[in-house]
Amino acid sequence: MIDLRSDTVTTPDDDMRNAAATADVGDDVYGEDPTVNELETRAAEAVGKEAALYVPSGTMGNQIAARVHTDRGQEVLADRKSHVVKYELGGFAQHADLQVRMLETDRGVPTPEQVDEATVAEDLHRPGTGLLCLENTHNARGGLAIDPEKIAAAADAARERDVPVHLDGARVFNAATALDVPVSDIVDPVDSVMFCLSKGLGAPIGSMLAGSEEFVEEARRTRKLFGGGMRQAGIVAGPGLEALENVDDLAADHENARLLADGLSELEGFDVQEPETNIVLADVSETGLDGEAVLERCRERDVLATAFGPTTVRFCTHRDVDRENVERALERLVAEF
Ligand SMILES: *Cc1c(COP(=O)(O)O)cnc(C)c1O
Repeated sequence: MIDLRSDTVTTPDDDMRNAAATADVGDDVYGEDPTVNELETRAAEAVGKEAALYVPSGTMGNQIAARVHTDRGQEVLADRKSHVVKYELGGFAQHADLQVRMLETDRGVPTPEQVDEATVAEDLHRPGTGLLCLENTHNARGGLAIDPEKIAAAADAARERDVPVHLDGARVFNAATALDVPVSDIVDPVDSVMFCLSKGLGAPIGSMLAGSEEFVEEARRTRKLFGGGMRQAGIVAGPGLEALENVDDLAADHENARLLADGLSELEGFDVQEPETNIVLADVSETGLDGEAVLERCRERDVLATAFGPTTVRFCTHRDVDRENVERALERLVAEF
């Protein structure tokens, strides 16, 4: 089986399993797990923020950020196709009593004019805007690597109106790799950033939420509130430290995605979006089949992908598939389509 459903399917390698087995541990709710403490320090350094918090999932990281940055009843600005809007169960409403104002954007990032226009000041009738949430890379739009200047322009517009900015950077290291910029260039203009250790970086579990000391202190309380306070979490933070060493490997995933996209675009009825990172989107409407039927045919050939909308299929490269696997997957699909 060649599993291209997601970069979350990576399994821990020997270094990670070793790190789990040998991690120094303590009770992290008491702040006494040295491995978690090291991971939080190293993660903060990696993105150039004052502090960071280890959280069980990217979703929890985004939800904590929204809760910490806002007051009950405020609005959040977010792209219509962002993960926080589409795939987090409407959590902003459930966990922070927020209303989302969705923006129709180019490449998933609003212009400063859009931010300005959509921001509302609190008055008798309006709740006030409490947060701008950006995403990089942009998952649902095909793993787009958003330029730091675009992030900075949107963030500056929000901050001029005293609206804080959170970046859903689940794959922010993929963005930095693709754009060949330090990740801090992307993250400097925002107040907080979440990134996943458990995706392309290959850790079994966990994400990081980074920002100012003050933000992280409050985020730590909110993590406890959400039931995310963990005890001897060094067992999973150890592999997380190994994952931070894997940033340089992401370029290979991107190269494999380009190879995959080239091959897929040769298939009858596949309209393939040029990949910028490790995600390849194919519109399969011209095959005469819907996305689910295409996936079923892929599965029969031992290739797995996911449906992204009725006629769009997503393929995702990662460290557990190499160039040879991609070539083999393409050979199988050429025989099928
Ligand atoms: C995967 C993902 C998340 C959530 O991460 P989980 O660890 O799966 O909860 C958030 N945002 C984006 C853009 C993602 O791709």
